[in-house]
Amino acid sequence: MSEQENKEGEGQQELVLALSKGRIFDETIPLLKAAGIEVLEDPETSRKLILPTNKPKVRVIIVRATDVPTYVQYGAADFGVAGKDVLQESGATGLYQPIDLQIARCHMAVAVRKGFDYEAAVRRGARLRVASKYVHAAREHFAKKGLHVDIIKLYGSMELAPLVGLSDVIVDLVSTGNTLKANNLVEVERIQEITSRLVVNQASLKLKRKEMQPILEAFKQASVAQESPEKA
Ligand code: AMP
Repeated sequence: MSEQENKEGEGQQELVLALSKGRIFDETIPLLKAAGIEVLEDPETSRKLILPTNKPKVRVIIVRATDVPTYVQYGAADFGVAGKDVLQESGATGLYQPIDLQIARCHMAVAVRKGFDYEAAVRRGARLRVASKYVHAAREHFAKKGLHVDIIKLYGSMELAPLVGLSDVIVDLVSTGNTLKANNLVEVERIQEITSRLVVNQASLKLKRKEMQPILEAFKQASVAQESPEKA
């Protein structure tokens, strides 16, 4: 770290950003770059959970995607990036969601085994068994359709459930559709579009406004550019 960068940090308060490994981390890197922040270690090769950046007072912590809202709610992280799917299921309260970053884009869908007549089952009001990690979103979706369903909470590999008779349908995230195809499943309903958002601790936003504001502004600009490159 250069002397100038060290000086830059003087008199500034620390900022901690919570990210999950994988797509969210990878797609947040360009946004951080736009804010002049470079993460100095790669979470895929480093075992460290606290990663330094080129800014002496900015650190990145690596947590599970579903834990990001919790770290931010309690102020252990000042801000974080979490998917809409995670935020909907999270019980975390009092988080600001100032920016839809337009990253880690995918959609949430209902899928069934090939050959299962979903339309007919819905028409006759069958009581479907629905396996999902996204129980709130699934419950709301079927309630809106006026269907009584039994929700079975799973923590992963949802695609397996209809194949072994655990459920009739699944509610899962779909990106390329390859996972569904590989498991002989088909999408029958698109529930909602999913992107990742910035979440901010309320107290941090008040107490560290000077440090945070430029980063939030850069994120906002960069996310507008992601959404429609011609606006950038
Ligand atoms: P794909 O085969 O590209 O359609 O990806 C589907 C698999 O990746 C499913 O197991 C999903 O749960 C998972 N997945 C897809 N997009 C996301 C995302 N944005 N966040 C978390 N998991 C995802």
